[in-house]
Amino acid sequence: MTPRTRTILIVAGVVLAFTAAAIVYNVRYDPVANLTRVHATELPFDSARVRWWHQAAQCLGIDTTYDAKLRYFVGDMVPKEWGDLTQESKSTIIHAYTDAAGHLILFERGFEHDSALTTHEILHDFIKIPGHPARYFGANATRCGILPGTD
Ligand SMILES: [Zn+2]
Repeated sequence: MTPRTRTILIVAGVVLAFTAAAIVYNVRYDPVANLTRVHATELPFDSARVRWWHQAAQCLGIDTTYDAKLRYFVGDMVPKEWGDLTQESKSTIIHAYTDAAGHLILFERGFEHDSALTTHEILHDFIKIPGHPARYFGANATRCGILPGTD
């Protein structure tokens, strides 16, 4: 085998390995798959959500354009085990859920036009910390029009 042939074979092997890895990754990772369980459908673009986040984020002094990467869904219900990692919210009914890794927000049907809940869920995606830190969610009273946390 000439050095040139060996180089070509190594390059071809590396390309094949990356292609295989990309295929496996894409087949395995489907963030929406979970949502089909509750018959979720994606919501069309709604400028009201953009406005709600812009106002809340401006009030908190954080990135007002952050919501551009989010997708919104509405479903029959939100399984309570999808709630926050705290025991308290696992035992209560929840009306929305945020998959921060997939940037997906699921609303229980009837709650998708609730501005306080919407900004609450976007904030979960934004901060990437479990629970409801008072610095963002306020303590008990509503702050910046955002639904306060319950833990
Ligand atoms: Zn919450």
